[in-house]
Formats: sequence, C-alpha cells, structure tokens
Amino acid sequence: MTTCNVCGETKSDDDFYRNRKSSNGRQPLCKKCADDRTREYRESRKNDPEYRLRKLFTGIKQRCNNPKNSRYAYYGGRGITCEFPDVDAFIEWSLANGYRVGLEIDREDNDGPYSPDNCRWVTRSVNVSNREVSRHIEAFGETKTMQQWVDDARCSVPYNTLLSRLDWFGWDAETAITKPADRNLIEAFGETKTLSGWSRDPRCVVSYSGLRHRLDKLGMEPEEAITKPNRR
Ligand SMILES: [Zn+2]
Repeated sequence: MTTCNVCGETKSDDDFYRNRKSSNGRQPLCKKCADDRTREYRESRKNDPEYRLRKLFTGIKQRCNNPKNSRYAYYGGRGITCEFPDVDAFIEWSLANGYRVGLEIDREDNDGPYSPDNCRWVTRSVNVSNREVSRHIEAFGETKTMQQWVDDARCSVPYNTLLSRLDWFGWDAETAITKPADRNLIEAFGETKTLSGWSRDPRCVVSYSGLRHRLDKLGMEPEEAITKPNRR
C-alpha cells in the first residue's frame, strides 16, 4: 500500500504508475491524480501562445519544405516559402503583431511567402473568405481559381451563383460553370446568351451590372442595352 502525495489517499500499488527510479518502483502520486495532472497540463498548454505558435510554425515549415507533407502541393509546391529565419523570430514577430489564441495566420498575397511583410493575424472568417478567393476548381482539364472561371468565356453565371452551385447544390464543376441560369438568358442579334455571356461579348459596351441595370431597371431592349454607348 502507498499513500498518494497529492490526494493523500492510501491505495494498492496497482493504483500507482510504475517509476523505476523511485525506491518502491512506483510514482509518488496515484494514477488518478497523475491523469488529472496530465490533462491539466495539456489544457494549459493549449492556451499557451508560445506553445501554439511553435506548433503552428512546425506546420508551416512542413507544408513549405517537406514534399511528403500532404499539403505540400498547395504551398511549397506552388513556390510558397517560409522566410522567418527560425521559430523564435516567428514567435517574436507574432507576439508583436497582434497574435492571440484563436486567430489564424493569413498571407495577404496568396502566392506570396510566409514573411513579416506578407502575414497578418486574422479571425477565422476573414481567412476563410480569403481562401475562397484563391480556391482552385478543376474543369475541362484545366485548373483555375473561382474568379478566373467566372471570367472565362465558358462560364455562364456570376461568382455567387457558381459558388452556391458548387457548395450548396454540389454540382459537378463543368455543369456549375456552363449551365445557364434561366433568368439570365437573353436573346439578341439572333443569339441566345446568358447575361454574363453578353457582358463579355465584344459588342457589349457596358459591364455585367450595367447590362443588368439597363434590362431590369431601365427596361431597355436587349440589343439596345448591349450596344448603346453610355452618355458622357
Ligand atoms: Zn492521488
């Protein structure tokens, strides 16, 4: 029998973890108290900025430098580098630049490095919307960002429609990009195109929103809406 030096209870030796260095071969505190302590330590570490920053920095180095890392393709593989000389410099910069537990690191230029100039600490929602901008979609054997697809001549819908088709309705990328939204179909010059298709047509003299405005708000005929120059 041994008495735990934390809770003071006397228990059988089996209730104590082994410790070869101690005289009776057991730890001085019982298993329950030892487990509590481990849990407390883990909890406190989770909220320790330095511990979190060290872990984060390891992750950054991994995805930038280790080709075996599962996310390397999106970082090191795209030429994203880590320009903080070491973890201490990273921690120092972080603490001096608004880091607190709960914030995420964001690279302002998504193709730029992890560096003091290109990084800032942001809330999760800011980071998610930034990631959205740089999100890559594969279709027709090509990989482009969401915005590049929206600007592509094959795309028949505006950004938000494409986004909701992909995320909310789970359409495959090619259908989401090409399928015209019914309300956007406009006939002019003997052709039927979507509103955004017309806005990219060489004959069109106004932007997508300008065209939408002319059709919906001003009630212009399609051909006039597409071609009539803006009065200056
Ligand atoms: Zn105990």
